[in-house]
Amino acid sequence: MTDAERQAALDAIAAEAAACTRCRLHEGRTRAVPGEGTASTEVVFVGEGPGFNEDRQGRPFVGQAGSLLDELLASVMWSRSEVFITNVVKCRPPGNRDPEPDEIAACAPYLTRQLEVLDPALVVTLGRFSMACFSPGSRIGQVHGTFRAADAASGAPRATTFAMYHPAAALHQASLKQTLFTDMQGVPAALTEARRIRATEKIGRATGPGAADAQVAITHVPSPEQPAVTPDTEAAPETNPEAGVEFDPTAQLDLF
Ligand code: URA
Repeated sequence: MTDAERQAALDAIAAEAAACTRCRLHEGRTRAVPGEGTASTEVVFVGEGPGFNEDRQGRPFVGQAGSLLDELLASVMWSRSEVFITNVVKCRPPGNRDPEPDEIAACAPYLTRQLEVLDPALVVTLGRFSMACFSPGSRIGQVHGTFRAADAASGAPRATTFAMYHPAAALHQASLKQTLFTDMQGVPAALTEARRIRATEKIGRATGPGAADAQVAITHVPSPEQPAVTPDTEAAPETNPEAGVEFDPTAQLDLF
């Protein structure tokens, strides 16, 4: 698929989501929030569902949690324009409550189809609802900051998935902010590993019909020596048993 074809397919999915009445969430929405970013990316970030500001603007992660996501991306020298950002449910749950299982099920085909179009190397899950789509049965307290093969039913069977806490969690529990930044430092390494796995899988396809469709790569993959960018914490870092846990991507690799 060319980038233009990918974009057209994403636009078609977005148009369907905007008119969707498959679950009760459509009743309260101002605008659906299908997701945004570049169609040629290798990396998709998946959140939970739109909040107040997202519902108003029709764009993902534009509120306080979005500002933190921007900071997290900047901490590894990435930007929103290099990735695709979407959510498990495309319409705002009233009062920002958790999405119900039937709402998640009704909306799942949109995410699955987006992933089939994007065919990302890496899916970064933000929060437990997103994690459950790609790594069912995992517990976020145990797997955050680590990567594994994405569940085949997710629509991204060739992807690696990297689990993170939801940025909004850090707005409620300040100690999680440092955890998020620490975990984010592992994302570029996870992408490097995801690329390696796909390159191995692709051997033999190099001269096939997809050979000319190589996706645009994110070029800023920091080397391990590169200093980590830390959040501008106003107060002294809080004591958190999870903060500062050393991340060894090789040790965490759990693909088979
Ligand atoms: N929280 C989410 O999970 N997604 C958004 O788009 C905004 C906040």
